[in-house]
Amino acid sequence: MAESGFADPRVCIIWGMSTRRLEAYSENAPGPFHVQKDLCIVCRAPESVAPDLIGFHRDPSGTDAESHCYFKKQPQTPEEIDRAVKAVWANCCSCYWYAGSDPKVKKKLKEAGCESTIEE
Ligand code: SF4
Repeated sequence: MAESGFADPRVCIIWGMSTRRLEAYSENAPGPFHVQKDLCIVCRAPESVAPDLIGFHRDPSGTDAESHCYFKKQPQTPEEIDRAVKAVWANCCSCYWYAGSDPKVKKKLKEAGCESTIEE
């Protein structure tokens, strides 16, 4: 079982008013931060605040139809965690999620106004 509590950290189920299936991009580095598939509008904002953590896949067709960002590295240090939280804050398509259990990370996300990105 992964740290997130889900058997596969790249696929999770969120239960709420309705059930919706969230699937993360396969390019996300294994770990609690991830970017959900198929919501990209190519803002590229998270890269600008955390270029060491966030990568960008450019659709080779040139149309951007399959372009998207992803966590190329999971944050390890306090500084990297701060940048990961900034990346979550900066994402413009509600596609960033934290599926971990670290109370310090959750506190930082809440302080940044990103509580809704925490998977419980
Ligand atoms: S934050 Fe969302 S819209 Fe912006 S580049 Fe990443 S996946 Fe695309």
